[in-house]
Amino acid sequence: MLDCAIIGGGPAGLTAGLYTTRGGLKNVVMYEKGMPGGQITQSSEIENYPGVTGEITGMDLMMPWPEQCQKFGLVHEMVEVERVVRSEAGTFSILRGDGKVDEAVSVIVCTGSTPKRAGFKGEDEFFGRGISTCATCDGFFYKGKEVAVIGGGDTALEEALYLAKICSKVYLVHRRDAFRAAPNTVERMRSTPNIEQVLNAVPDEVYGDAMGVTGLRVKFKDGTTRELDVPGVFVFVGNDVNNAVLKQEDGSFLCKVNDWGQVVVDLSMRTDVPGLFAAGDLRIEAPKQVVCAAGDGATAALQAIAYVDEKGHGQ
Ligand code: FAD
Ligand code: NAP
Repeated sequence: MLDCAIIGGGPAGLTAGLYTTRGGLKNVVMYEKGMPGGQITQSSEIENYPGVTGEITGMDLMMPWPEQCQKFGLVHEMVEVERVVRSEAGTFSILRGDGKVDEAVSVIVCTGSTPKRAGFKGEDEFFGRGISTCATCDGFFYKGKEVAVIGGGDTALEEALYLAKICSKVYLVHRRDAFRAAPNTVERMRSTPNIEQVLNAVPDEVYGDAMGVTGLRVKFKDGTTRELDVPGVFVFVGNDVNNAVLKQEDGSFLCKVNDWGQVVVDLSMRTDVPGLFAAGDLRIEAPKQVVCAAGDGATAALQAIAYVDEKGHGQ
C-alpha cells in the first residue's frame, strides 16, 4: 500500500513529490507518462520564476527537479494512469496503462490542462516562437509592440485586456461578431482604445522567419483577407482540463468538478473526497503559472501527510 500516489510529473507533481517524501512519507510514487517537467518544458524562455534570472528555457528550469525529489525517495513510474477509483475502505486503486493496479492511502492529482490549438497554417511551426497560449507568461516580450489575440470567449477577452496594458495595440480576431464572454468583459474590451476588433475573421496563416513570427493573415467570411504585421499571436480558443483519470466507468467523476471540468478544491487543495487532493492547472481558478502549480503541490503534500498520519499509515 502506497502512502501517496502522485499523478502527473509537472511542477505541481514534482513539488508534491518533494514535500511528501522529505516530510516523512515512505512509499510515494509519482506516475508521469513522459519525462518529468510538465508543459513548461515546451517553453523557450521563462522570465517569471522567482529567483531565476538570466535567459533560461523551461527545460533548463525543470531539469534539476526530479533529481532533487529522488534524493528523498520519490519513485518515478513512467506510465500513464488510466483511472483512480476509491474502495469501500476509503483507499484508492490506481489503474495503470500497463494493466497493473497499485493501492494508495492518499492521491494527489496533478495532470494539468492543455490549451487547444485553433488549427491554422503555421500555428504548430511557430508555437513558442511568436505563437503563445499564455499572456502572463509571454506578454512582456511584446512590450510596446502590436499583437493579435484569437478567440471570443472570456479567456480571449480578459487576456486581450491584459495585453492592452503592455502592448501598443491588440487586434482581437474573432470568427463571429458576437462574443461568448460575459457582457461586462465585452464592454470593457470595447471601451479600451488600443484594442481593435477584427470580426467575422479566422486566422488563415501565420508566417515569419528564423527569428519568429512576422505577421498573421486573417480571412473574412466574404473570402477577403487582411495582413496584420504582428510579431506575437495569442491563441485562446478553449482549454482541455486533463481530468480523465477521475472519470469513473459510469461516466461520473470521482470528485466534484465544475462545468468546465476543473477540479473543485479548497485552499488546502482538498477535493470533496477524503484523501484525494488536486494541484496545479487542473484545479478551479488556477492561475496557470509554474510558481502557483509548485505552491499547490506543496500545499497538497502537507495535507496528504496529515491525512496519512491520521489514518495510522506512514510511520
Ligand atoms: P503540467 O505542467 O501540465 O504537468 C502535468 C503532467 O501530468 C504532464 O507532464 C503530463 O504528461 C502528466 N500527465 C497528464 N495526464 C497523465 C496521466 N493520465 N498519467 C500520467 N501522467 C499524466 N508558466 C509560467 O509560470 N511562466 C511562463 O513563462 C510559462 N510559459 C509557458 C509557455 C508554454 C509554451 C506553456 C505551454 C506553458 C507555460 N506556462 C508558464 C504555464 C506552466 O507551464 C503551467 O502553469 C504549469 O506547467 C502547470 O503545472 P502542472 O504541474 O499543473 O501541470
Ligand atoms: P470558450 O468559452 O470555449 O471560448 C473559445 C472561443 O474561441 C470562442 O469564442 C470560439 O468561437 C473561439 N474558437 C474556438 N475554436 C476556434 C478556432 N478553431 N478558430 C477560431 N476561434 C475558435 O473558451 P474560454 O474562453 O477558454 O473559456 C472556457 C470557459 O471558462 C468558459 O465557460 C468561460 O466562461 C470560462 N472562463 C471564465 C472566466 C471568468 O469568469 N472570469 C475567465 C476565463 C474563462 P465561437 O464563440 O464562435 O464558438
